[in-house]
Amino acid sequence: MLAERIDHHLRILAEDIGARPPGSAANLRATTHVASTLERAGLTVRCDPFRTRWWEPGPGQLRVDGRDLTVVPNPYSPPCDLRASVVMAADLPALERLAEGPAGRLVVLTGALASDPLWPVAFPFLAEPTHRAIAAALLAARPAAAIAVSDHWQPIIEDPDLGVPSTTIRTADADGLVTGAEVVLRLGGAVHRGDGVNVAARTSDAGPRLVLSAHVDSKVTTPGAFDNAGGVAVLLALAEHGLPAGVPVEVVAFNGEDHVDACGEVAWLAATDLTEIAAIVNIDGAGLRGRGSSLALMACPPDLHALVAAVIADRPGWALSEPWYESDHAVLAMRGIPALAATTAGVHEVMATIAHTPDDTVEVVDVEVLADVATTVATLLPVLAGRCLAVG
Ligand SMILES: [Zn+2]
Repeated sequence: MLAERIDHHLRILAEDIGARPPGSAANLRATTHVASTLERAGLTVRCDPFRTRWWEPGPGQLRVDGRDLTVVPNPYSPPCDLRASVVMAADLPALERLAEGPAGRLVVLTGALASDPLWPVAFPFLAEPTHRAIAAALLAARPAAAIAVSDHWQPIIEDPDLGVPSTTIRTADADGLVTGAEVVLRLGGAVHRGDGVNVAARTSDAGPRLVLSAHVDSKVTTPGAFDNAGGVAVLLALAEHGLPAGVPVEVVAFNGEDHVDACGEVAWLAATDLTEIAAIVNIDGAGLRGRGSSLALMACPPDLHALVAAVIADRPGWALSEPWYESDHAVLAMRGIPALAATTAGVHEVMATIAHTPDDTVEVVDVEVLADVATTVATLLPVLAGRCLAVG
């Protein structure tokens, strides 16, 4: 029964709707499905609205040395069609020195400047001083455009507030990009403004409760089945047929985990008294076919840790994993609220090849594993309630 319902919701989100970045019409369809399902299941639904910006991808082309290369514009890159001369920068001092040179060059970021995605300025939960310094130095260079040379699996720049046309290319494609080279760069795509909601639904009246969450949004580039339609499908199936009786739970479909401004998370936090949230169970990237499941524990006192570990030890296919300070539980864990995060065992190995790509389809998801995730969560909730809420 659980597996059947999980399959039903998974297919609606990842097949019928597909890519659902916050602010888009597809995202609204997804949250409407979530809200109406939770309402039908008898929960009290609250939708917290937000306004955000989403990115519609476009084509890209780079001509170096008479050689044409198809490139992918970085998300939120302004469009461009330009010819410019290249200037290279491999570290922050080199990038900062470009402010002394002429404007209108094409800045190529390599080395330490392109080793990790830069946190967007609008991201509310973390300000990385080095990343801010890189963005500031890039702007001070007054470039016509920027190219990040990186083999990271994600684009190096994804920032609606940067205002510099940009793309990310692989090291193997960077031949001919040397200071003084003349290149032609054409980038398409468009930024749209749009509205959305964060959906939350309670089994009880306001007051102390557990949060059970999964993010409903996806990158624009992917149907987002394992990341994270599967997690939302588990929430919905549990709300329909399996939340433990007598445990006050708020089911939250966070809407911005993969988004530059975490719009849904911010809207939910603004409408929520966190002193009432006793613990959170978050599901993200669970149910990948052919793998086991893992549970990370954060901000859990030793006795709670032991209780949860005992449940997991009894469940075949499960293991405890290292603390995982990403995804939606991290915001609460960092405030000291006990947080449990269920995902696929060894998820970091497969992030680069599946997550955020067109290959993250329902075929990579095993609904039987997700049904087992649902059952495990339903087993954990009364344990958490007993320790953190003094009920159950
Ligand atoms: Zn995710």
